[in-house]
Amino acid sequence: MTVMDKDVSYVVEPQPIPALPVRGSGALFPVHRIYCVGRNYAEHAIEMGHDPNREPPFFFQKNPDNLLLTGEFPYPPATSDVHYEIEMVVALSGGGRDIPMERALACVYGYGVGLDMTRRDLQGEMKKLGRPWEIGKAFEHSAPCSALVPASEIGHPAGGAVWLDVNGERRQTGDINQMIWKVPEMIAYLSGLFELRPGDLIMTGTPAGVGAVRRGDVMSGGVEGVGELTVRVV
Ligand code: MN
Repeated sequence: MTVMDKDVSYVVEPQPIPALPVRGSGALFPVHRIYCVGRNYAEHAIEMGHDPNREPPFFFQKNPDNLLLTGEFPYPPATSDVHYEIEMVVALSGGGRDIPMERALACVYGYGVGLDMTRRDLQGEMKKLGRPWEIGKAFEHSAPCSALVPASEIGHPAGGAVWLDVNGERRQTGDINQMIWKVPEMIAYLSGLFELRPGDLIMTGTPAGVGAVRRGDVMSGGVEGVGELTVRVV
């Protein structure tokens, strides 16, 4: 149940609502859920050992409080193989169930740039055992994200470069027009499985070139027309 009554008393301290800044505004975007698309670029599916023609994209989730806004990514515990994945982020202002594709973009508040940081070694073990991916994907600070830009300012980008540099060297390149599932398809598909809500984020998948980072590395990337993001591994 969700308690909305301001006079309620809690038996433990409620945690803060995770939120993202909005570029050019003092107001915040409160985050409800984070959906992530796996293998949404053919070249990345291939580099991970999969055939994009036989295995369609799929979804997993991160926790809203995994968002990181500080620009410093603390190297996480229990891993020696942390990978970057640069992704366009979609932020929803509307929601519902069974949203038809032609109404999907009307649910979009805006866009951002995120990193789907991944403990690849733990994810690999879970894949092998047929177990869930949370320990590889949904850990503290695993979702660095830029400020959002409203669609009312930039429209709904259907194409544009996506890139990531590590220490000034280009590692990931792609174009968001290469996404196998486009934004309206993701929203329509997800809304058949879950009730989407204002505040939901969708991380739309990463192009090829993923790899490991170490403490001290600086990751710097962006999506053309949306924004940029720089994060140091500490
Ligand atoms: Mn990803």
